[in-house]
Amino acid sequence: MPVQDPLEQEKEKLQKIIAEVKEGVIIVDPEQKITLMNKSAEEITGHGLVEALGKPIWHVLTLLYNEKEVKPDTYCPVSSIKLEGIVYEKDNLTLVDKKEEIKVVNLKVQKMKDGMEMGVGCILTIEDTFAQSELERMKLDFVAMSVHVLRTPLSILKGYLSYLTKKETLQKLNETEADYLKNSVVSTDELVYLVDNLLDLTELQASGFRISPIPLDLDKAVQSVVYEFKPFADAKMLEIIYAPSLSELPLVYADATRLKIVLRNLIGNAIKFTNEGSVEIIVAQESSDFLKVTVKDTGRGIPEKNLPHLFKKFYRVKEALEMETGRGLGLYVSKEIVGSHGGKIGVESKEGVGSTFWFTIPVYKERK
Ligand code: ADP
Repeated sequence: MPVQDPLEQEKEKLQKIIAEVKEGVIIVDPEQKITLMNKSAEEITGHGLVEALGKPIWHVLTLLYNEKEVKPDTYCPVSSIKLEGIVYEKDNLTLVDKKEEIKVVNLKVQKMKDGMEMGVGCILTIEDTFAQSELERMKLDFVAMSVHVLRTPLSILKGYLSYLTKKETLQKLNETEADYLKNSVVSTDELVYLVDNLLDLTELQASGFRISPIPLDLDKAVQSVVYEFKPFADAKMLEIIYAPSLSELPLVYADATRLKIVLRNLIGNAIKFTNEGSVEIIVAQESSDFLKVTVKDTGRGIPEKNLPHLFKKFYRVKEALEMETGRGLGLYVSKEIVGSHGGKIGVESKEGVGSTFWFTIPVYKERK
């Protein structure tokens, strides 16, 4: 039996590994001629390995950026200077494949330290953004569909429960039964809140975070949300303070429905996590381009170590897990919404003293 050269064995092993990489990998020699291509690269470019081997890289890769061709010398420089590491990295390049179909790809090109000696010019990694987003889309569609299906029975349940909590019905129940009923109402409200946040998140993601902004009066939007929450603040004997700003503020350019979701999340949280004192909302001019909304509470505050994680998906402060209902989605959704408007969101908090959440939203600029 012929003994295989250990070097050959290593080469075979390496080729097998590269074949498994989910991104497209193309290796070219110092003259930019193709020496290796994995399966994903074949799929992305539409060119088979056998026909591509030994051909110049431009034979399989046609890349454009802002409708201008990106030349091989740009992404894989043949220079006498010894380069190593990543020599080119660009997202959202247009790739024209063999069938002249267009794909959007992210490209990363690396050079190796001893590449020249090993006959390796550049190692190209190509990521097909569509293949990725297709999977994401399927996942989102599934979540969106499930959430939609949940919304209807939940609304019905909420309707019946609200009917049952009317005074005359409650009077017919003993104390324990009345408590059970009240708890059911709170849990149903939480579910509705969660489903609404999930719905908005999936819709926002499915639309590629595109929003429908209109010029609108931020003071009025805040006023209507404060009005919605007044009964909740009253029930906890909290003061809810909001005075429209004294100076006349410019209109903002925002998606009205989504702006309200952010306001509801911040004001709702402030009430939920405060047992004594007040919740104050301030609207002010941040700069000529942005207005700022601040929601300040005198609640239990947030430990410093948790602050950097607050706006992550499904993050909840540990102590909150045992105490209140909620799913750690509101702040994440709010961050996504504010971000898609071009604004910023943040928090300052001190344990035992209170929290101040704020966000900025762009001012409407009339086009001349
Ligand atoms: P949810 O309130 O549904 O759990 P959020 O994303 O809105 O989800 O909030 C995440 C976590 O941040 C909350 O669970 C809570 O621990 C903390 N948090 C948010 N707002 C406040 C606040 N005003 N005061 C204290 N803790 C807060």
